[in-house]
Amino acid sequence: MLMIPGPTPVPETVLLAMAKHPIGHRSGEFSQIIAETNENLKWLFQTKNHVLTLAASGTGTIEAAIINFLSAGDRVIVGSNGKFGERWVQIAKAYGLDVQIVSAEWGVPLNPDDIKKELEADTDKQIKAVIITHSETSTGVLNDLETINKHVKAHGEALIIVDAVTSLGSYNIPVDEWGLDVIGSGSQKGFMLPPGMGFVTASDKAWAAYEKATLPKFYLDLGKYKKAADKDSTPFTPPVNLYFGMKVALEMMRKEGLEKIFARHTRHKEAARAAMKALGLELFAPDSHASPAITSVVPKSVDVEKIRSIMKNRFDIALAGGQDHYKGKMFRMGHLGFVSDRDVLCAISALEATLREMGHKSPGSGVEAASDRLRQG
Ligand SMILES: *Cc1c(COP(=O)(O)O)cnc(C)c1O
Repeated sequence: MLMIPGPTPVPETVLLAMAKHPIGHRSGEFSQIIAETNENLKWLFQTKNHVLTLAASGTGTIEAAIINFLSAGDRVIVGSNGKFGERWVQIAKAYGLDVQIVSAEWGVPLNPDDIKKELEADTDKQIKAVIITHSETSTGVLNDLETINKHVKAHGEALIIVDAVTSLGSYNIPVDEWGLDVIGSGSQKGFMLPPGMGFVTASDKAWAAYEKATLPKFYLDLGKYKKAADKDSTPFTPPVNLYFGMKVALEMMRKEGLEKIFARHTRHKEAARAAMKALGLELFAPDSHASPAITSVVPKSVDVEKIRSIMKNRFDIALAGGQDHYKGKMFRMGHLGFVSDRDVLCAISALEATLREMGHKSPGSGVEAASDRLRQG
């Protein structure tokens, strides 16, 4: 049972849809699948623009954003308060951008005022982009995208490029309404699909920047994907069987509806957090900025690797560990994508049993706290 922040669980209907012989990707039959999934992706991303599907993981979508809409030497601000923010700094530097890092400690949200200050000081409009990780999966912090975006809009020139890898599909991101320029996400997170596909959408403003951008690109040249999408096609051989799965997964999501999907993730986040508190385990992200996709826990008095090992070996539940300097100090419970109240309750009760087995004296019951929250809907 995958309770990690990706790969996430995949419904059986989706798995079965993929268990077929591939079909030709230039056939009329496949073209119809592209047309339908593209429409449903637009619905999910709340945009009228194409959502382009790449045969890449989430990282590939942010690399694509950088090389398609920017040029070497461009000044960019990268928000960094975790592993993924740090990765976008590395990519931007690898392509010779002039990177200015606005950082916060791991576990602390980015301060939108820090970004505002930098943007306001840039009176000759040299900053070409602000790159933000919305849900920082390494820490469970949800950065305040809406406020940061308002500051970017006030600047006027800079694009906002968003890693929405674990927030798209778990949190309301009205892409067109907020005027977000570039959004990247990945199939193995909120999409109820296996790994293998990355999704990118770009605003008209970003496409205008594309015309002037000079970084070299070929396979990840988004212009090619856009042109192909206009004709319900793809520039290169797409992961055909993943498209079969995506067709079913997106139908399921449409049936549930955006509001219910977001409410379910909020409910699971709050149930998980209430349970951790009841069990006497310290949460890493503050309540005000907690990711709807992942709950990070930094227990002071219990061995996290022992928790993970008992959860895995006795209950067959996979929890993620901490990354980098939080290795051995943190465990992370994913509740993203195809996750039900039953799954959350099951993971919490297994965690409670694990703590009992370890002799940890919990001040309260996690199951009680979680079920109280889940009952409220
Ligand atoms: C998973 C993830 C990514 C992408 O990682 P890949 O391994 O390239 O799919 C990017 N950002 C965040 C916040 C993630 O959680």
